Amino acid sequence: MGKGSILIVDDAPESRILLRRMLAGCGYGAIYEADGAAAVFAFFGLDADGGGEPLDHLDLDLILLDIVMPGLDGIEVCRRLKGVEVLRDIPIIMVTAANTDSNLRAVFEIGAMDYLHKPVKRVELCARVKSALRLKEEMDRRLALTRELEQANQRLRRMAMVDGLTGIANRRCFDEFLDREWRRCQRDGWSIAVCLADIDFFKLYNDIYGHLQGDDVLKQVAALFQQAVNRPGDLVARFGGEEFVFVLSGADAEGAGRIAQRAMDLVAGAAIPHLHSPVSEYLTVCFGVSATTPRPGTYPRLLLDCADKALYDAKQTRGNRVVTLLPSADDSR
Ligand SMILES: [Mg+2]
Repeated sequence: MGKGSILIVDDAPESRILLRRMLAGCGYGAIYEADGAAAVFAFFGLDADGGGEPLDHLDLDLILLDIVMPGLDGIEVCRRLKGVEVLRDIPIIMVTAANTDSNLRAVFEIGAMDYLHKPVKRVELCARVKSALRLKEEMDRRLALTRELEQANQRLRRMAMVDGLTGIANRRCFDEFLDREWRRCQRDGWSIAVCLADIDFFKLYNDIYGHLQGDDVLKQVAALFQQAVNRPGDLVARFGGEEFVFVLSGADAEGAGRIAQRAMDLVAGAAIPHLHSPVSEYLTVCFGVSATTPRPGTYPRLLLDCADKALYDAKQTRGNRVVTLLPSADDSR
């Protein structure tokens, strides 16, 4: 025992003294007092009428609340406290004089946990307080567990969206992102561009330098691509294997082509040796770019297919370049 902080609310000083003594006798040490509604609201940092934002670091486990008080009575105080989100879970035990029995229904309706009759007996008080605190502790424990679970779920969701090797968005994240942006651009009448990228002669690179170094190159290229695409609303994702993809909302083919070229330049500037590459002594990449303003009844697949064809063309000519291909009017029907 002795755990739990308790607020006694009563307009009569002698009642507060009595309750405090009884609680202290049962081993409760952290006891606060308020002499009415205004003092309760002030205790929690609320406005004079119980509105506004409460204080941040409240650590209260139980309220003993007198019903009959001048000004706002205990029932109204209880109602207003239960209306404040972060205070809602603090258990409230109403303390009633014998002549206020008719209030009992109201007491439970507004969310009080229990009630005590005046004059309060020590044994009864301590038993009720003890069980209220135990319940509060159990509720807190469950709340903490729920939060932990939610956080774990969030971490899982994040992990499900991130490519394990490179730390950038994965294919699934890309699919969802493109779908969402496609619809948004359709609604707003904006252009949207997709740049598909491929590392030139990457199989050859792995054969010669080994897969571990190949993995390092994937990480390096992912970081360089992220540098090239620096608008906050754009996405760089790993498309699969040594393929990457950019989604650039609001960009037309020309703008997207410039960003692809910048990404190519950044990779070239990193001067990653690839001695057996037929196109350069350094690692190079190539891009297939496409852009369109999505029309009703069309799907992102249209854009992706086009970028894929463009990438294929770029690869056919040994890479190290950007090829742009726009969907034809027939495609987009
Ligand atoms: Mg009173």
